[in-house]
Amino acid sequence: MKAPVSEIFCSVQGEGPYVGMRQVFVRFIGCNLQCWYCDTQKGYTDICRFEKEPGSAIFASLPNPLDVNTVIDAVESFGNVHSISLTGGEPLLHADFIKNLQTSAPIYLESNMTMPDMAKKIKHKVSFVSGDVKIINEIECDDFETHIKRTIDSFRILKTTESRDCFCKIVILNNTKSEDVLDIVDNISDYITGIILQPVTQYNDKPSIQFLLQLQKRLLDNNGIDTRIIPQTQKMLGCL
Ligand code: SF4
Repeated sequence: MKAPVSEIFCSVQGEGPYVGMRQVFVRFIGCNLQCWYCDTQKGYTDICRFEKEPGSAIFASLPNPLDVNTVIDAVESFGNVHSISLTGGEPLLHADFIKNLQTSAPIYLESNMTMPDMAKKIKHKVSFVSGDVKIINEIECDDFETHIKRTIDSFRILKTTESRDCFCKIVILNNTKSEDVLDIVDNISDYITGIILQPVTQYNDKPSIQFLLQLQKRLLDNNGIDTRIIPQTQKMLGCL
């Protein structure tokens, strides 16, 4: 079993409630969505960058696609970590590969939550789910109703259980409408432990702090779910 991977490295989680946790990151190539603010490489590369020494910016090259044992060896070489972050791109494109990934640390899935059939394949392997909600102003999409249905189905399949923590992350732009956020959260609130409002960082289209605080208050009042405003801290630390 093989999959295309762009990077494997050890760093700290920069987003959401597990910010600062030491993780190994496996960044898969490819995504089924097109978000206009996406900052990850989309095209196939012949080489996976493997940073053996965390923070060194010195990379070994592993030829793509990688077989599952190569990924396991690379991941395990970093020793004790909180979890293994499977990110992308969209890792659920590679659900069959992930099913075969046996790691000593638990799996932390970072997903756009739009592939429910793939989510079913790996739901028993995943201990943490950082599930994005892509609302209408963020993606190119012809059938938004189906997109939202897939999102809700994915959260239902990967919902919080005794052995899994599922939370949702929503990137907030300066033209994000509160109602769009409130509508989708109403539909997934039974499945998650918390909501992360993540103001977009890499563009000048940031929302105002007043808007973020008002939205946080409405979410807390409506759903009573832990709702936090957390930017991407990896940009501040300057780490991968
Ligand atoms: S879902 Fe993530 S990887 Fe895919 S296009 Fe959007 S931001 Fe990029």
